[in-house]
Amino acid sequence: MDSKAYIFDIKRNTSEDGPGIRTTVFFKGCPLSCSWCQNPEGIASGPSLSFRAELCHPDDCERPCIKACKTKALTLRDRQLRLDRERCDQCGRCAAVCSRHALEQVGQWLSVDELFYRVAIDKPFFDATGGGVTASGGECTMQMSFLHEFFKKLKAAGIRTAIETNGMFNFGRFARLLLPWLDLIYFDLKLIDEAASIQHTGHSNRPILDNLLRLTECAEIPVKVRIPLIPNITATDENLCGIARFLREHRIKQVSALPYNPLWLDKLQRFGIDVEYRHSAFMSDTEIEHCIDCLQAS
Ligand code: SF4
Ligand code: SF4
Repeated sequence: MDSKAYIFDIKRNTSEDGPGIRTTVFFKGCPLSCSWCQNPEGIASGPSLSFRAELCHPDDCERPCIKACKTKALTLRDRQLRLDRERCDQCGRCAAVCSRHALEQVGQWLSVDELFYRVAIDKPFFDATGGGVTASGGECTMQMSFLHEFFKKLKAAGIRTAIETNGMFNFGRFARLLLPWLDLIYFDLKLIDEAASIQHTGHSNRPILDNLLRLTECAEIPVKVRIPLIPNITATDENLCGIARFLREHRIKQVSALPYNPLWLDKLQRFGIDVEYRHSAFMSDTEIEHCIDCLQAS
């Protein structure tokens, strides 16, 4: 098998993405476009160019990046380097010559064997703590065939597997290619109202809700629902009470809430992403408790 997947991060020693010590692999590409996406660089399926202007000092640099750029996306204006993302084709030549890491191409193509080698070195820690490998994203199920091979290899090596999904996948392929090789599923449930889902994620939530119900009916492994608490979007009484009713009606009990983390806002400038939603405060304990009350009271 020599297919490759575009991976934008591999985080070792994580603890929030499943039991024990884990390595989480972030796959590029997502069918949704949530207005609060914590990993906006993971939405596009190909490479993403990161530019940190604070690391770039053109006066002290021979500016090899400008020479390397064939599309003229990089220019010097008012003694500052300017990046015109409309012209950029993400070739990565500029990043390869920027020794200050002001320009970086995020992610890389890895084969199943290459990725396996990267994660399997931590097997002793997985074994000692009941941990393993979690596939995340983006939406990792967009690369289902690759994941199938990857999970099969992990299981053959005695490494436990988990997945984080937004639920937007073809159920038949998921059940055939991934389910037999998984030990745990984290399933994001964001919005219960279809119109709100279309408005804030770009897609109807119907396939997501259907997939959740089908999974909880047939999966012999834990399916844990996670609800991201996004102020004024998902963290509203109406949405949380609606989700709670839906879960109760279908006897889904393994549920947790993920409080909002505004640190993703730093990424907007770095990746030249323009979104309207820019809530910059962490949630207070009182706000989080109110959300939990809504989920428990309905
Ligand atoms: S090579 Fe790097 S530091 Fe130098 S001008 Fe280009 S981006 Fe800035
Ligand atoms: S990634 Fe390529 S096209 Fe984009 S700015 Fe760098 S060199 Fe130019």
